[in-house]
Amino acid sequence: KRKILVAGNWKMNGNLALIDSMSQTFATQDFKHVDVVVCPPAVYLSSFNEPDFAIGAQNVSHLDGGAYTGEVSISMLSELPVKYVIVGHSERREYFNESNELIAEKVYKILECGLTPIFCIGESEQIRESGKLFGFLAEQLDAVINRIGIQAFNQLIVAYEPIWAIGTGKTATPEQAQEVHHFIREHLAGHDANTASGVRILYGGSVNAASASALFSQPDVDGGLVGGASLKPTEFVNICLAAE
Ligand code: 13P
Repeated sequence: KRKILVAGNWKMNGNLALIDSMSQTFATQDFKHVDVVVCPPAVYLSSFNEPDFAIGAQNVSHLDGGAYTGEVSISMLSELPVKYVIVGHSERREYFNESNELIAEKVYKILECGLTPIFCIGESEQIRESGKLFGFLAEQLDAVINRIGIQAFNQLIVAYEPIWAIGTGKTATPEQAQEVHHFIREHLAGHDANTASGVRILYGGSVNAASASALFSQPDVDGGLVGGASLKPTEFVNICLAAE
């Protein structure tokens, strides 16, 4: 079975005090069966000194460098202790107009630099209710397959985050998550069976310490991408413990 990975996405939250308390809470833990990742805002990417978890960025530019005020390039991230980069989050798709094609370009840049994308996909409630769920998700996956090839999925992590479950307290049931994760794996298996069986697929959307273990015990759920609950050190540790 694939190793469980739990990633905390702080979004535009947190401060130096949270970095201290997160580090102190994790210092007393020793995780063996779960990979833990913390993704703070970009200004804090160098602020951790914590061997118990890896660091991920929440975004990166698709451009290499130059006169692009406010952007951060992948080569800059690769000089920091950063191993993962979240890409394609629904908040970036919605509020910053990121298209499937732009996201595929970012995935390409991240892989080229040797970092690991946490590639997010997920549907709105409206798409789910209109019966277009699987076609919509297939299109999001295919943008990366078309740009890079199926082998991209040997080196990235997929995160399935239904938009209706993000920040709403309305977690997908373990059965709903499993159904979609199974679809994602089957879709990838249509291109390469080995790649599909190896890729880790995280679930995200109102994961908390109470819901984590039932989700993580589904056969195709390989961990979680956690928002709100990752800002509470004890709760986040308990989510990671649910995977141990
Ligand atoms: P919540 O856990 O706050 O629902 O956020 C999920 C998410 O968007 C993680 O990337």
